[in-house]
Parts: sequence; C-alpha cells; structure tokens
Amino acid sequence: MNLNQRLKSDGFKTFSEFVHAYISGRYPAYENNEQVEKLLNRIREKGITDPLTGEFSLTFYRNFDAEDMLKDLMNKYVYKKHAKDLVRYCERYLEIFFTKPQLIQSESGHKRAWICDAMRKFGMYYDRKMHNPELKILIEEIIKRFELNKKMRIHDRVWLTDEKFIETMVHKALEIDGDIGVIIKFAFFSGLRGEEIMYAHETPVCDSLTGCNCDKLHIAHKKNGVSIIVLNRIVGQKHSYFTIIPTILWNYFRSITKVTKEERIIAHRMIKSHTNGKVTLMDLRKFHYNILCRSEMGEVGAEVLAGRAKSISAKHYLINELDKMSQQYSKSMLEPYYK
Ligand SMILES: [Zn+2]
Repeated sequence: MNLNQRLKSDGFKTFSEFVHAYISGRYPAYENNEQVEKLLNRIREKGITDPLTGEFSLTFYRNFDAEDMLKDLMNKYVYKKHAKDLVRYCERYLEIFFTKPQLIQSESGHKRAWICDAMRKFGMYYDRKMHNPELKILIEEIIKRFELNKKMRIHDRVWLTDEKFIETMVHKALEIDGDIGVIIKFAFFSGLRGEEIMYAHETPVCDSLTGCNCDKLHIAHKKNGVSIIVLNRIVGQKHSYFTIIPTILWNYFRSITKVTKEERIIAHRMIKSHTNGKVTLMDLRKFHYNILCRSEMGEVGAEVLAGRAKSISAKHYLINELDKMSQQYSKSMLEPYYK
C-alpha cells in the first residue's frame, strides 16, 4: 500500500488533511499502536524535551524550528542544497516519523533513504542544541524497528542520501582479505571505473616527476600518506584525470600479479555475498564520490576525481589544489576507512 492508499483507509483524502486533523487533535497519535506508545514512553524516560519550552512533551517535534536547523546544518555542509533538502524532509516527515512510522515503509527506497537521513540529522541537531543524545538513539531504533531502511539498493543514482548506509557498507566491503581484498580497497579508495582499475595496474610508471607528456602514469607521493596518480586517460566519454590513493595501498595494488576482468568479477561476487546483495563493485565508486562530496573537498573536487569535470578544471586542481585536496582526502577517506 502506498501512503495515499493508507491515508484513504484511515479516512483522509490527502496527506495535509491528515496533518491538519492530527495537529488539531482530531486524530489520535498512537491509537492501538503499542510500538509507537513504547517509543513515546522512551521520550519521557530519556528526558527528551520540547526545544521551545524545555519541558517534556510527547509532541516536542511540533516546535521544530526549520530555520534554526538550517542555520545549524549550513555550518556543517559544503553542499548547501543538501542541507536545505534535509530540512525540507524534516518539515514534512518529523510528525509522521514519530507517530506513524509504518506509513513511511511503503515509500520508495529513494524517499525512505532521504527520510532516514533527515531524521538522523534532526537527532544530531537536537543533540547539539539540547545536549541530549537520547533522541539520536531513539531515531535509530525507530528506523530499525520499522525497517525504514530496508531494501535500499540505489544502484542507478549517483547521489546516495543515507550516510550511515554508506559507512556500514564500506566497512563491510573493506573486510575482505587477500589479493581480491586489495582490488576492492583500491576500487573504493581510488573511485576508478573497472577498466581504469586495470589500466592503473598494468600501465608503467614514468620516472620523470614533472612536466612530462608521455603515456605512462605519473605519481606524486605526499607527506600525509597519500599518493596522486595521474592517469590522463580518456576513452570515449569516460575521463579519468588523476586519482588519490593511500600510498601503502598503491604499493600493495601494484604488487598483485593479476588484475584482469576475471579478478574484477570475483571481487564483484565477493562484495555482493559479503553484503547480502546490497553492494556491488561498481557501488564503491559511488560511495567514494558521495563521501568526498560531503567532505571539505566538496562537489567540484569530487567531480574532478570522478572524471566528470571539464579537463580545464581538472588541470587547475592538479596544479593548484593538490596539497589541499590530499589533506581533505586524508581526513575523509584515509582516517575513517583505512586500517
Ligand atoms: Zn612521463
């Protein structure tokens, strides 16, 4: 059943009709719903109070201040539109999330991902404001208990909304050992496409450090443990200017004897079975992009690394921004994920 059908079965024509009825008290918040009732008791027990009055209230989320949350998120997000979208989802779904979370189950995976992410961000914002982490925990429990993040395979989209999902899945994929594990790690840390991974493995490295136009790979090792690999590979519409990779991983990767299509297929299968079919080898490139997009590197830097930027801006980054980029990379990729 989708949301509209569900609302109809509850006697409402539209979502806003439901919200109005609910706000004016004509609709009981948690009738015959033990689970929700239990959750609301938790709100009482854990001292989750109304941000406006500071007092305990079952409907604390009604005093949600969208502008204040937006101000808070704007300081944290490089990608401003993302912050705005999250707040918009909060405006729309906070009430329903805390009172009738089961209604969200029937939404599409894409929408549920947004809702879960927005609710989590609301929990974090609440914690920063009220110094009470209990709401974050409660939100996580609601998401789990009502399986709101179930079956969220978002393979065809570049932008993934659920950060927690990415984090969990990356850690899972990186658990895989051996040579195949090195290929998997390389795929994630480089963000390269399948053919580019093979190219990076088989192409000889040039000895000259600067200003050379040959077809080999050019490498710059940075002090913070990452290396810049310049590929300058263009095949059809697919560009790859350069990539950043932990230096140790680069050495491991180059010491593997075989990185062919066969190994890629094995890597693909291993990731799938290790993540219960949720993640494929290709997804690692998307995770890479998503993580960097949200980092201080921002959308433009992430686009350059993904080979989607114009070659002129790739050149600009390569010449002027490498130190900054490798630091940003180290902070958002190396530190949280490389062990
Ligand atoms: Zn060269």
